[in-house]
Amino acid sequence: MKAHDGMYIDGAWRPAAGTDTIEVVNPADEQVIARVPAGTAEDVDAAVRAARAALPAWAATPPAARGAVLGALRDALAGRLDEIAGTVTAELGSPLAFSQKVQVGMPVMVAGSYAELAAAYPFEEKVGNSTVYQEPVGVVAAITPWNYPLHQIVAKVAPALAAGCTVVLKPAEDTPLTAQLFAEAAHEAGVPAGVLNLVTGLGPVAGQALAEHAGVDLVSFTGSTAVGRRIGATAGAAVKRVALELGGKSANVILPSADLAKAVNVGVANVMSNSGQTCSAWTRMLVHTSQYEEAVELAAAAAAKYGDRIGPLVNAGQQERVRGYIEKGIAEGARLVAGGPEAPRERGYYVSPTVFADVTPEMTIAQEEIFGPVLSILRYEDEDDAVRIANGTVYGLAGAVWAGEEAEAVAFARRLETGQVDINGGRFNPLAPFGGYKQSGVGRELGAHGLSEYLQTKSLQF
Ligand code: NAP
Ligand code: MG
Repeated sequence: MKAHDGMYIDGAWRPAAGTDTIEVVNPADEQVIARVPAGTAEDVDAAVRAARAALPAWAATPPAARGAVLGALRDALAGRLDEIAGTVTAELGSPLAFSQKVQVGMPVMVAGSYAELAAAYPFEEKVGNSTVYQEPVGVVAAITPWNYPLHQIVAKVAPALAAGCTVVLKPAEDTPLTAQLFAEAAHEAGVPAGVLNLVTGLGPVAGQALAEHAGVDLVSFTGSTAVGRRIGATAGAAVKRVALELGGKSANVILPSADLAKAVNVGVANVMSNSGQTCSAWTRMLVHTSQYEEAVELAAAAAAKYGDRIGPLVNAGQQERVRGYIEKGIAEGARLVAGGPEAPRERGYYVSPTVFADVTPEMTIAQEEIFGPVLSILRYEDEDDAVRIANGTVYGLAGAVWAGEEAEAVAFARRLETGQVDINGGRFNPLAPFGGYKQSGVGRELGAHGLSEYLQTKSLQF
């Protein structure tokens, strides 16, 4: 695989300050496919300086002109769809068709949405005798995970640029090649020098230096709750804006009036998609006691059909972690009805699509984010019981409700402590705000709500 051996700073690929590198591994066959530089505090400092220097001119660029650049970025990403999708498949392991349609297709859509929003957003409004301006927050540190490598970058960089902010991006160490292609696309699209900067490197080194840098005005982080908590504390101490998109343990609540087979099949597909490495995955299926055994049978059959079609997990550590959770589920008394902890292949970081029945709300597999292809099916007695179980974790990122009538599902969804709920299999909407209640995070991404994260408010009185 093609890789840059430098950092993209101030509009050019520049040599890294140090000599350390990160090996990029293909999780399907465990082969090293490339090396990228492991950034240091020195690289981060150079990138932040470039972003600061570029800020005044970019902030003063009319929103419609910023939107035009984002439109060109959308086109550049779309034009490289196959190349980027192939790279995502090589470094993350998701099947190529999924990489094309979702891993690249979705961010292309999101970039396009911000091209339009930049031009249409009300950056100025009259309130009585005041004019209220929405101004860019400043230099943004974007720290992203590997699970949707391009989407996580675009969901931060596109709204930040639309708002008039400049960005230093630190992508996940497992998926730096996709980030390099994103920087190439931005360059090609005419994003001015210094407006987007890329520093590859390790979280505790480059990531931490970036989050702590005094020249950063806002830290936008997506990843684990453990790291998010630290970043939030650091930002709080510096009185710096912070947006955190953390873990989830979303409930898929199937009410007795729902089309059971459809709800179960879509639910299983949702969890197995991207090998379960999706923060909003509906990893807990809640079924009424009267339909429980039927749902378990349907889910086990649906999971068994995945067999070979599922990709590997991103790395050996994640594979170990997920297999550990499966062993824990068995040890705590859950009933394994599909899959299991054994590695299904000799090579590659694969985990079998796994389904547990008889999962009770206090079990570890019902409480902690597993981030693998593992579904837990829980039983509820009545609607209040279902609400209690659904809300009974520290997380609140997403969820689903299924019912015969939409109104019944909506009434239930309103009782959920969660940021996003799909009603009877509702479609993805790139303009809908995405983000968590409770420990799933702070702030929202996507659409106008995502844009407003990168703005601060000034009012003039007349
Ligand atoms: P992570 O460590 O939180 O990684 C997220 C990003 O933060 C990466 O770019 C990471 O760099 C960086 N980072 C790590 N430590 C840092 C620090 N001290 N200061 C600043 N930045 C730091 O997550 P992970 O290790 O990739 O995955 C672990 C778990 O996080 C998963 O099992 C899953 O539960 C959760 N997760 C959630 C999401 C989500 O979308 N909400 C996405 C991915 C993972 P490195 O890549 O070098 O570590
Ligand atoms: Mg990590």
